[in-house]
Amino acid sequence: MEIVNMKDWGLGLDPSKGPILISGPCSAESEQQVLESCLGVAKHRVHILRAGIWKPRTRPGTFEGIGAQALPWIKRAGRETSLPVTVEVANARHVYEALKNHVDILWIGARTSVNPFSVQEIADALKGVDIPVIVKNPINPDLALWMGALERFNKVGIKKLAALHRGFSVSNSAPYRNSPMWHIPIELRRRLPEIEIIGDPSHIAGKRALLREIAQKSLDLSFDGLMIESHINPDVALSDAKQQVTPDGLKELLDSLVKKEVASSDPLFVSNLESLRADIDRLDREVIELLSKRMEVARQIGLYKKENNITILQMSRWEEILNNRIKEAMAHGLSEKFITSFLQDIHNESIHQQTAVMNKETA
Ligand code: PEP
Ligand code: MN
Repeated sequence: MEIVNMKDWGLGLDPSKGPILISGPCSAESEQQVLESCLGVAKHRVHILRAGIWKPRTRPGTFEGIGAQALPWIKRAGRETSLPVTVEVANARHVYEALKNHVDILWIGARTSVNPFSVQEIADALKGVDIPVIVKNPINPDLALWMGALERFNKVGIKKLAALHRGFSVSNSAPYRNSPMWHIPIELRRRLPEIEIIGDPSHIAGKRALLREIAQKSLDLSFDGLMIESHINPDVALSDAKQQVTPDGLKELLDSLVKKEVASSDPLFVSNLESLRADIDRLDREVIELLSKRMEVARQIGLYKKENNITILQMSRWEEILNNRIKEAMAHGLSEKFITSFLQDIHNESIHQQTAVMNKETA
């Protein structure tokens, strides 16, 4: 994809201020709230101001945003701070209103990027328009949908494109509101290295206390920016009250983040890292050899069961393995979640291999 990086969007996003920082309230609620929130955060290394004008709420009957009437408020905040502004658009009418009010950047929400029809409608409305678009990941953990949304914009000629990682709605996301599932943005980076990624600790964490760790992790993974919701008085915010920070809270959060280098030229560091990586390579080879030996034993058991006419899956044996191994692994500092899913994968493969042995015609 032909992509223009954020610093070249022609909006004066100054990389010397650090990673691109987008901040402002979850929702525009009143002109005063938008101005106070935005002017407050503009003092703290913010590059772009945000505010939700049309709010996609999970349940009806909650605050659904002020609508187009709030667009001049955010534009005024932009003028008074000399910063570009961004709002979420979810259909062609939103695009029309946002463009009419000279919004600088559009963002696509998670409930929109999940739906190719909506994404295409917005992309079609942007044909021939030179405006940057930031695409949040879809609410469900589907990398192809996220990539597909980025591609739909690129296909209509949008080159000023970035992705935004806001976490995924899954049944077990505790302690977060949305599970970060870091492997998905990492895979996005591998598949589309030209696309810059912005982290959204607010919608992942869901609460202020967890913002820092998510923001730090995003930077440690070399994300190119952060979007952090802030509100002049978060506790009375009409949406996402628990996760928004005050302008002072934003400063405190930013000050607590540690900047790490992507690479180092210090020869001692380089040689130590190389030797640790060699250890990892050797251990991975050992793990593969052990797994292959384990499968060999599983195949022998399969053969033996076949000769004796015994079923493959024996629930009590599997439960015994799971319980014992989980205990052992946890005593070795591995997490229950990791070892459970690792064992399940091994077990599935064993069953697969045993089935192949049992179904094989004997000569
Ligand atoms: C938001 O940014 O306020 C928002 C609605 O986010 P998401 O689309 O990630 O839920
Ligand atoms: Mn929000």
